[in-house]
Amino acid sequence: MGAGARAVARCDELGSAPYSDDPAGLFRPYLGPGHKATLERISAWMVAAGMTARIDAAGNIIGRYEALVPDASALMIGSHVDSVRDAGRYDGMLGVMLGIEAVAWFAERGRRFPFAIEVIGFGDEEGSRFPVSMLATRAVAGSLAEQPLDLTDRDGIGLDTALHDFGLDLEHLRKAARPREDVLAYVESHIEQGPVLEAEDRALGVVSAIAAQLRFRAALKGVAGHAGTMAMHLRHDALAAAAEMVLAIERIGNAGTEDLVATVGHMTVRPGVPNVVPGDVIFSIDIRAGTNTVRDQAADTVRAALTDIAHRRQVTLSVELQQDLKATPCDPGLTRLMEQAVQTATGTVPRTLVSGAGHDAMVMAGLVPVSMLFLRCRAGISHHPDEAVMKDDVEAGLRAMTDFIERFATSTVDGAGAVGKADGQLTEQKPDLTGHV
Ligand SMILES: [Zn+2]
Repeated sequence: MGAGARAVARCDELGSAPYSDDPAGLFRPYLGPGHKATLERISAWMVAAGMTARIDAAGNIIGRYEALVPDASALMIGSHVDSVRDAGRYDGMLGVMLGIEAVAWFAERGRRFPFAIEVIGFGDEEGSRFPVSMLATRAVAGSLAEQPLDLTDRDGIGLDTALHDFGLDLEHLRKAARPREDVLAYVESHIEQGPVLEAEDRALGVVSAIAAQLRFRAALKGVAGHAGTMAMHLRHDALAAAAEMVLAIERIGNAGTEDLVATVGHMTVRPGVPNVVPGDVIFSIDIRAGTNTVRDQAADTVRAALTDIAHRRQVTLSVELQQDLKATPCDPGLTRLMEQAVQTATGTVPRTLVSGAGHDAMVMAGLVPVSMLFLRCRAGISHHPDEAVMKDDVEAGLRAMTDFIERFATSTVDGAGAVGKADGQLTEQKPDLTGHV
């Protein structure tokens, strides 16, 4: 079996129990039993590939392939191991498997570098357990300072308890932060989660930037009342108001530029029984765009529309900002190296695109220069069991990753020479939002 095929087969193996918390499909939330079993399996693969493996204070798995010298800084390669509910098998995990295969490729050839290579599998990118995302990634990037950690999941289990049950400690979560000098750069390969590469018959793409995101929690307070006795004209129905707000958010998303998307994906209704007029509703708002400006203007429009509806319907509205992720440009010098690597791996002029979906790289960019490689996925389908990749594309992706690492090594003695430097031949790429929310 080729290394690309093995990476795919490993993703497939991790796609069901005991690596999933859902016996009917793939659901691997942060710190669940599926996550635990997955890390044990990945750890064994890392060791077999020539790395040492450990789990950090935030539940991330880290494999390390030592440099020619001890205690060297590392080139970090990875993605996330957690999943959404009813997930596909390659979102995140394929990038981790490709990192392991890249190290295995070098280890088999006895090739070491002046820098170490670390393969990281982030424990929480999707935010499918606690009401924030990229918790584990932010722990590594050292950007958890503003984040309240008294979080609870839908079953009422606190982050502290979940960490404890995993053998970790909330008190130590922030110790997963890596000193800047430990890491030279972060490189992530990921399925595109969009249809552009397939439409253009390309195996690989190079990401120039990741779109900006905002996530809000909106809470509505109306007046609960008996569904039989509360006259219609006297009601302050929180759910009816929320319904109007959802449609307003959709309308605002539709009215913007092509890259703008606005989504209400979660709602809680209280008391949530058939014979009571709903008194409380909480819902999520997710807004993304290729630039911070477009995103922020849309968020302002959404806030104004919601305030207006709440006022008209005489319900109390509070909107709390839960996540603010700015648009993240990838490092221009590393992007250039990745383009050269893709050209070598595929024999075609590389395609550069903006990612509409968020990735660990957007958080890691706060710590170190980042680069991203996209792999074609079937019909752009992701966050769904029908997610699929072609083995030949994964082989090409692995060739691009190993070629990138060689280029990174030769860019200077310490491997950091390419960072930040684009060579003037690059033409300006038109922002082209391809991902999905
Ligand atoms: Zn992902």
